Amino acid sequence: MPAVRLKPGREKSLLRRHPWVYSGAIAHIDSPIEPGSTVEITSDSGEFLAWGAYSPKSQISIRVWSWNRADVVDELFLRKRIQKSCSLRGDLGLTAHTNAIRLIHAESDGIPGLIADLYGSTLVLQFLSAGAEYWRSSLTALLQEISSARCVFERSDAEVRELEGLPIRTGLVTGELPASPVIIHENALQFKVDVEKGHKTGFYLDQRSNRLQVREFSNQRDVLDCFCYSGGFTMNALLGGANSVTAMDSSAEALASLRENLTINQFPPDRVQLIEYDVFQGLRMLRDRAQSFDLIILDPPKFAPTGSQVERAARGYKDINLLAFKLLRPGGFLFTFSCSAGVTADLFRKIVTGAALDANIHAQVVQQLHQAPDHPVALNFPEGEYLKGLIVQRGF
Ligand code: SAH
Repeated sequence: MPAVRLKPGREKSLLRRHPWVYSGAIAHIDSPIEPGSTVEITSDSGEFLAWGAYSPKSQISIRVWSWNRADVVDELFLRKRIQKSCSLRGDLGLTAHTNAIRLIHAESDGIPGLIADLYGSTLVLQFLSAGAEYWRSSLTALLQEISSARCVFERSDAEVRELEGLPIRTGLVTGELPASPVIIHENALQFKVDVEKGHKTGFYLDQRSNRLQVREFSNQRDVLDCFCYSGGFTMNALLGGANSVTAMDSSAEALASLRENLTINQFPPDRVQLIEYDVFQGLRMLRDRAQSFDLIILDPPKFAPTGSQVERAARGYKDINLLAFKLLRPGGFLFTFSCSAGVTADLFRKIVTGAALDANIHAQVVQQLHQAPDHPVALNFPEGEYLKGLIVQRGF
C-alpha cells in the first residue's frame, strides 16, 4: 500500500479524527499513486495514523476512510458503511412521513465525497471526490442492492468536482428512468422532482423538518417565500392555512415547477402570487409598494461555498435580512437560512443581529434550525453542518 508521510506536528487533526489532510501537511508521497486509491497515512516518525483516499489535484489531498489499522478498504468495507448509514435512516423513522430520504451524507456517514438521495424507487448519486469516484461502480451496485432502487441516476455535476480534477458527469447509470415524472411524498404533500435537471439531486431534502415548522407558523398569516424554488415552503404554508402566499424566485423554471406542485397538491393557483424577480431587488420593490407580511422565509443559495467568499456573502445576507425585517409586521416571524459552508452558525447570527439593529427593530430568536436528521453531522467533522437557520420574531 503506498504511504503518505506528514510533516512533523501535522498529525494533530487526524488524531482528533478530522477526516481531511491538506496538501500543505504532506512531507512525502510514495509515487506514483492512482487518484482515489487508498493510501496509508503516517506521522513524521512513521507511525500509522489512518487509511485514506488520495486526491492529487485537490487542496484536500486525502479524505480518511478509517483510523483503524486492521481495516481493509474494499467492497465489504463499503457495504458495511452503507448498511450502517441506511440503518440510521431506519432508526429515524422517516419512512412513515416520506419516501424521499438522503441515504448517504458523505464524510458524516464515513463515505467521503458521496451523496446518495433516494426519491421513491429512484436513487440519485453524486460522486464529489477522487475517492468516491474511484469506487464509483462498487458504490453504485451496493447502493442499488441495499436500497432496492429500481434505477440509479448520476448527478456528478456539482462545482466541487472541478477542485478534484474530475469532469462533470450526469445520466442514467442502471435501470430505466420511470416513464412518468418522479413524484415524492413528504408529510402529506407531494412534489414533482426533476432528478435530471433539478437543483442538487432534484430537491432540497435538507429543509424537510423546517418546512414542517413553516406549516405550523402559517395559519392565517400573509407569507412571503423568498428563493422559493419548486415551492417546498410555499406548499407547507398553504397546507398550514396561510391567508396568502407570495413566492419569489429569479428562475422561470423554478416558478414553473412550483405551479406544477400547486396542481399536484390541488391548491388553486390563485392562492399564490408568483414573482419572477431577483430577491435583492424584489424586496426593495415590495418595500416601495409599502407591502408587509406576517411570515417571511429567506432561503438563498450558497453565497459562500468556501471560506474565501465569506465577506461578500456576509454583505448579501445582511442586505436581504435587513430588507426582510422592514417588510415584517410587528409580531411577525422571519425564517432565515444560510447553507454556506463558509458561514458558521455564530457568524450567521451576528449578521442577522446586525440586520435587526440597522432596521431599527427589536427581535428575538425563538428557535434555531438545522438540516434534517438524514443529513447527520459527525462530531469529528463540524463542516458537515452546513445549513443553519433561525426563527426570529419581530417585537411589537
Ligand atoms: N427554498 C427552496 C430552496 C431554495 S434554493 C426549497 O426549500 O426548496 C435557492 C433558489 O434561489 C433557487 O431556486 C434559485 O433559482 C434562486 N435564486 C438564486 N439567486 C437568486 C436571486 N438573486 N434572486 C432570486 N432567486 C434566486
